[in-house]
Amino acid sequence: MNDTIIIGGGPAGVAGGIYAARKKLKAVLIAEEIGGQSTISDGIENWVGSVKISGADLAKSFREHLDAVKGDAVTLVLGDRVVSLAKIDGGFSVATRSGKEFTAKSVFIASGAGRRKLDVPGAEKFENKGVTYCASCDGPLFSGMDVAVIGGGNAGFETALQLLAYAKSVTLFHRHKDFKADPVTIEKAKAHPNMHIVAPAEPTEVKGDQFVTGLAYLDKDSGETKELAVSGIFVEAGVMPNTDFVKGLLEFDAVGRIIADPRSQRTSVEGIWAAGDCTDELYHQNNIAAGDGTKAIEDLYLWVKKQ
Ligand SMILES: Cc1cc2nc3c(=O)[nH]c(=O)nc-3n(C[C@H](O)[C@H](O)[C@H](O)COP(=O)(O)OP(=O)(O)OC[C@H]3O[C@@H](n4cnc5c(N)ncnc54)[C@H](O)[C@@H]3O)c2cc1C
Repeated sequence: MNDTIIIGGGPAGVAGGIYAARKKLKAVLIAEEIGGQSTISDGIENWVGSVKISGADLAKSFREHLDAVKGDAVTLVLGDRVVSLAKIDGGFSVATRSGKEFTAKSVFIASGAGRRKLDVPGAEKFENKGVTYCASCDGPLFSGMDVAVIGGGNAGFETALQLLAYAKSVTLFHRHKDFKADPVTIEKAKAHPNMHIVAPAEPTEVKGDQFVTGLAYLDKDSGETKELAVSGIFVEAGVMPNTDFVKGLLEFDAVGRIIADPRSQRTSVEGIWAAGDCTDELYHQNNIAAGDGTKAIEDLYLWVKKQ
């Protein structure tokens, strides 16, 4: 039986893997990929120790760090996904999508979060036909076109900035008057002549024939429904925690995030720790996820040694 199973390859899971290796915990790290959510970012400017690093380079450095320290202690299982986690005698059993099973005395969950889908008529029908959830993957397809971005958080404004490099115009829709994004990012976007902002507004329908042709929305100031002609709609409407595989086992908050003790990252079940964006941590940042992942393994290590 392993000492621990680490679920996730973002900053929280990678920090967990590095600390597990240093403490010679016999561990398996299972993840779809190494890097996590900000892998798709063009430039991360607040990762401590780097003035600016692309998401791809950050992911590369995570992998290099893991490879350099993992030795015989940590086994990487990549390109796979945990689908269930159950309590067994003396620990826990984890099953993956590909049919593998692993057992361990403890589990560290660092499964992060994924995109919230746009829930209006036409959004599903036109997904990948103009509606997209990845600006760095699909942005260049919309060169010289008018596009919309849904969401006024950091991800929405960062996406708008990326798209402004090649789109004819970018219109960002946000449901409130105030934005959640950092003021410095908002100012950068607002300063661009091809940037437009519609707020407060609520998208009501994605219009199209074969591909997207427009976005209908409710102008919340006037109460009128209006339409903007766009060829692309980039959705940055928040995130959903990747916690389905522990539903019913662990205590969640109202939006499905794992409740974790902020001092130790312990969850409601003894022997399971959680950190990063899959938890009820107030702030979602790479540095915080890495720090909380470190804290989890520090505490988990002491617990495992006492078993
Ligand atoms: C576009 C974008 C830009 C961002 N820019 C910044 C920034 O500039 N600075 C900053 O500090 N933060 C930024 N963030 C936020 C930051 O990326 C997150 O707070 C951080 O990645 C959270 O780390 P995490 O380890 O908790 O989870 P994640 O990064 O979400 O990683 C989760 C990991 O778990 C894996 N996984 C998920 N479910 C399973 C499963 N069932 N089984 C196995 N593996 C699973 C995933 O594949 C992934 O490897 C950005 C986010 C986005 C989306």
